Amino acid sequence: MGLLSTSSARLEQHLWFRCIAPIIVLGLLTYATWSFCHQLCYNAIYRKFGQRSVAIGLMVGEIILVLFLIFIWFQMVLIGPGRQPKLLPYKIMPEDESDTDGEAKEGSQGTRQSTNPPRIYQCDPQGYPIWCTSCQSIKANRTHHSSTLGYCIPRFDHYCFWIGTVVGRKNYRLFVQFAFYFWAFAIFVIVSTASFLPRIIRSRPHIPRVNPNILITLGLCGMATLMVGPLFLAHTYYMMVNRTSLEIIATKRRSRATNTWLCCYNPVDGLRYVFEFKALEVQDFWNKRNILTNLKEFLGNNYLMWFVPFGTNIKYSHPKSSDVADVLGPYQELCGKRLYDELQHRIETGNYVAAFKAFGDINMGEN
Ligand SMILES: [Zn+2]
Repeated sequence: MGLLSTSSARLEQHLWFRCIAPIIVLGLLTYATWSFCHQLCYNAIYRKFGQRSVAIGLMVGEIILVLFLIFIWFQMVLIGPGRQPKLLPYKIMPEDESDTDGEAKEGSQGTRQSTNPPRIYQCDPQGYPIWCTSCQSIKANRTHHSSTLGYCIPRFDHYCFWIGTVVGRKNYRLFVQFAFYFWAFAIFVIVSTASFLPRIIRSRPHIPRVNPNILITLGLCGMATLMVGPLFLAHTYYMMVNRTSLEIIATKRRSRATNTWLCCYNPVDGLRYVFEFKALEVQDFWNKRNILTNLKEFLGNNYLMWFVPFGTNIKYSHPKSSDVADVLGPYQELCGKRLYDELQHRIETGNYVAAFKAFGDINMGEN
């Protein structure tokens, strides 16, 4: 799915460009910390009002929150969005004579050159899987090639300009947690500043005027709240209905390029059917119609770790076979029963683009 505009993607390939926004964010965080701790907590609360324990408590709280944010950020970049494991071409056509008995073909290095197609995969209108020429691999469902990083990202969400990294399957939980704690940080600064501001204004004979840094920091945190709050809420909603930002963006572009085709094996007649979907229909592919099931697909099964921003919920171990489900492991996207029912209905009503017999399905049987 080549959905991201190429001009912005080309700029993002330059490391210096990707660093600009994160440096600005880090600079503003540093400035807010200095302004909050020195101007508000030390000069006003500690020295003028003499509330030493309150001042120290607020300073410690602010610094801990900032360090916590940087720690989550660091993990997000270090862990990365994840990389889709290389998928061999699917056996659609027989490769050569020796292959017609259904045995695995061994390459010159003794590696398998193709693998049986999974029951359902994203394809072109002819039913062939989507191939990434850069990665020399099939793109699994929901995978998108990132030109910024130069490889295929499973469940690609978006390139985050402010934090300077791609958000995908592996670091998505950290991203949502970062948005939440950033929101909490901004609210903490606003509430603490606002509760002392009337007193600072009243004590005019002692302080000539309210230090402008306190007001600037208040304004910055107000802006951050308005930006990050809705972002966090939007992503919470996306997780509840099992959508990615990329899938949301696709519906806003009305070009034909946003159509998606699915190829699905029908165990009843042993044929494969190709179905065409509009972007709006694609949005609902992965929705399991159960909020908790959807949330777990993004945040993992451990409820405690939904709130603890440490590490990733994706644990990839090397595959034992070249079977697609085995190779993808935790990166495999699961289709709900609802989607299969919909496809079955489409077969019955003749609402499909093509039907064919795939070579790799011959020994597949009922699964
Ligand atoms: Zn790729």
